Amino acid sequence: MWFSLIADCYEKIEATTKRFEMTDHLVALLKLTPPDIIEKVVYLTQGKLYPDFIDVQTGIAEKLALQAVSKAVGKSGREIEEDLAKTGDLGETAQKFLAKKTQATLFKVAPLTVEAVYGTLDRMARSSGTGSMTKKLTFLAGLLTSATPKEAKYIMRIVMGNMRLGIADMTVLDALAIAYGGGGEARVTLERAYNVSSDLGKVAKVVVEKGLKAVEKFEVSVGNPIRPMMAERLGSSEEILEKLDSGFMAEFKYDGERIQAHKQGRKVTLFSRRLENITDQYPDAVGLIQRHVNAEKAIVEAEAVAIDVDTNELKPFQELMHRRRKYGIKEAMKEYPISLFLFDLLYADGDDYTLKPYLVRHMKLEQIITKTDRVKTAESTIVYNIEDLESFFEKAVENGCEGLMCKSTGKGSVYQAGARGWMWIKYKREYKSEMTDTVDLVIIGAFHGRGKRAGTYGAFLLATYNPEKDIFETITKCGTGFTDEDLRKLPEIMNKHKIVHKHARVKSMLEANVWFEPAVVIEVMGAEITISPVHTCAMDTIRKDSGLAIRFPRFTGNYRLDKSAENATTDREIGEMYQRQLRKLKES
Ligand code: AMP
Repeated sequence: MWFSLIADCYEKIEATTKRFEMTDHLVALLKLTPPDIIEKVVYLTQGKLYPDFIDVQTGIAEKLALQAVSKAVGKSGREIEEDLAKTGDLGETAQKFLAKKTQATLFKVAPLTVEAVYGTLDRMARSSGTGSMTKKLTFLAGLLTSATPKEAKYIMRIVMGNMRLGIADMTVLDALAIAYGGGGEARVTLERAYNVSSDLGKVAKVVVEKGLKAVEKFEVSVGNPIRPMMAERLGSSEEILEKLDSGFMAEFKYDGERIQAHKQGRKVTLFSRRLENITDQYPDAVGLIQRHVNAEKAIVEAEAVAIDVDTNELKPFQELMHRRRKYGIKEAMKEYPISLFLFDLLYADGDDYTLKPYLVRHMKLEQIITKTDRVKTAESTIVYNIEDLESFFEKAVENGCEGLMCKSTGKGSVYQAGARGWMWIKYKREYKSEMTDTVDLVIIGAFHGRGKRAGTYGAFLLATYNPEKDIFETITKCGTGFTDEDLRKLPEIMNKHKIVHKHARVKSMLEANVWFEPAVVIEVMGAEITISPVHTCAMDTIRKDSGLAIRFPRFTGNYRLDKSAENATTDREIGEMYQRQLRKLKES
């Protein structure tokens, strides 16, 4: 398959401002793709060579990438760097320089194929050790020399691990359903397969080669992370008891990092909530799982929490952030020790537990763990009334937890991989303001700063996620709570995601000065949620032609690096928070 076909399609996707057109272009591309390379095309489209959980680093450092462009176009590194400072996108810079060169030389080379590009990038990604930098440089410069300017743009973006197309998993699943599943309805089946395998390429390959029936048979397997189940939220015990009327278990909600551990004999692999392989970061957790999970093969979920080893007290989430590093892991392990609190079991010795009710999973988990100070199951209790729930909640907070997770024990209480549903409800400490909880919002645009903030951003346009439509809707403009350090750092973080027009998956009535692909999530607290004619979140659901907005938003200082844009707070959650706020107002 010619690589130019892919590049043309990417260019069309980049140019569109409509979600459905984006899917149409993607459907066309998938239909054009020969079955034996469908996996590769799916990964490339998201700027990857493999699914996230496979730890092969696609990206290379900017400096090296810059050198490769310089070598391929025969210009000095400084010239490339100067242009990069203007475009903020090495893809665009490479395209520009290559266009000049092609005009000047007019010599023809054989066209690139997808197979050749993928193969070279793969070799690049896998070369390591001494001399690997030179090898990578030669590979990349070679590719660029054979590429057209447009192809070079996307090759560079893949290499930088940042396609700026904002094609999310759900967009690919939609397109696959239309192209190969017989229509949009097939998405449910494809989604379940994706939820238990976290591998879009694999799902694509099976549906293309073997059809939808084969996709239905996808099974949980050790080594393939399962997309995590997520919780809804409620603000009072009454509401929780009403919602979970067929019985539930309340568990401490620990304030740490979610880990999905896969054990196969002595081999243990750890995945983050975003399903990245974080095994190397937590050698202590690996050891604890090896020694204390008594099953040959198992998949369990746990919260890793920073602790004070002398007192066994839990420490806040910020402490654990020191463990997020590549080097000095042994030292960090000593300085910031952790405990594991296991809270779910998804697979054990040949049995898929994801389709079993919660109590069955919970009981099996209790059976296969040898508990110590450092490995425990989440503290839990069955609750029958408001008083018990309230006192257990107080106990959780006293013990350094955020609140409770209330989990249905009813018949249908299966593990809903990849979904946020009412089977799990989080109940967090009430805050003093009218807004009862923080929200996690996606940065989709920015406004230039003035005065003290000249040269950086003055405020950000923030959005919630709408999973039904797979789009991002604006909810507030936020310029408060950012420290000088944040303001210095943010352009660096955001530049990678800058795009020339509003992203196709963003619905906004406001015009930002700068637009971003939806990627970065920050935590925000506000005074209250109000009806708004200018924000598109929950548009028309509460009042016609109006959406919901957050008044007096303030960045809490917490970058939610653990969340992808699609994990942000949803429009529905905001709608529910608004209703709760109204109810409270009426009661008082
Ligand atoms: P949130 O990040 O606020 O949406 O809350 C959900 C997160 O709470 C999960 O992803 C887990 O990391 C964490 N958590 C802490 N304790 C538990 C528990 N007992 N059960 C499930 N999740 C828990």
